[in-house]
Amino acid sequence: MELADLGWDDGWAAALAAHPGLTAARVAVEHRGAVEVLDPSGSFWAEPTGKMFFDAGDKRALPAVGDWIAVADADVARTTGSRAPLRAVLPRRSCLVRRAAGEREAPQPIAANVDVAFIVTSANQDLNLRRLERYLFAVRDGGAAPVVAINKADLVDDPGALRARVVAVAGDAPVLTVSARRGDGIDGIAGFLGRGRTAVVIGSSGVGKSTLVNALAGQELQATQAIRGDDDKGRHTTTRRELLVLPHGGVLIDTPGMRELQLWSADDDPTFDDIAAIAAHCRFADCRHRREPDCAVEAAVKAGTLAPERLASYHKLADELDARAQRERTPRPKRRR
Ligand code: GDP
Ligand code: ZN
Repeated sequence: MELADLGWDDGWAAALAAHPGLTAARVAVEHRGAVEVLDPSGSFWAEPTGKMFFDAGDKRALPAVGDWIAVADADVARTTGSRAPLRAVLPRRSCLVRRAAGEREAPQPIAANVDVAFIVTSANQDLNLRRLERYLFAVRDGGAAPVVAINKADLVDDPGALRARVVAVAGDAPVLTVSARRGDGIDGIAGFLGRGRTAVVIGSSGVGKSTLVNALAGQELQATQAIRGDDDKGRHTTTRRELLVLPHGGVLIDTPGMRELQLWSADDDPTFDDIAAIAAHCRFADCRHRREPDCAVEAAVKAGTLAPERLASYHKLADELDARAQRERTPRPKRRR
């Protein structure tokens, strides 16, 4: 393997030149306080320096899956199992950020340096165009190019009609109908990949993301990409590598954060631009438009200039985001295989 197989190019080499004496590696798994990284010789652990933690205004300054990092003593870390000092995160070209709903919630990077995001929907489920718009917005906002994959096309008679409805909201994003299970259309998806490209797969649970990842990566490859490491208590654990190098070239990032993603907040959502414009006149900047004093949004509903259903669907999204943020604050059990 070469660095280029992991997505390295001249631009990254130029960025690394600012850090003489250090070598490059790409973050494959993020843990609290440390990362598992890959370079052409294999995997090892790296740990941001105290200064990096200290200087970080929020988590965006710390390494995320997909980041290119500059480290010292990679080979020492590899052979002894120690953590290589991670001196710098090379400036990102794109970053998908999870924004939680609560005002105090800090933004959290979940995948860096992603070129393309496959937004997967399922042909046999109710098509939620609003949700799709939110995904499209979040991906573009993070600096990546969205591609919509309508999966399970084998289950419907007329995937073309469905595709037309998606095309209507997709803007410049290509829209493909596929069957991950049968392998139909996978070549079209793979066309957006290739050596030097990095992709993520996002979408609601059950739409077929794992099946698509397996179709792209091959079952065997996924199974062999587990990493052995030590957890905090010194036990051996295996984690699933969240950055896969595909057999036909390209890198696929598949993190739990990506999957359970909540990339946006109700206020960032362009779907609610009308409400955001009125909310600028609320007395409180963080007004939730739920009986706060001098709420301009509720006043607009009363005056008949804003449909009550608009505010109701805004509240519904806000509640959904709050509930998800709540769940995410409860620690997940450690993943093992
Ligand atoms: P995920 O939660 O998005 O990762 O979804 P999975 O990949 O686990 O798939 C959910 C279910 O949908 C599984 O039972 C899959 O076998 C099934 N599935 C995935 N892709 C297809 C497809 O193209 N056609 C059909 N008929 N079923 C599929
Ligand atoms: Zn208000």
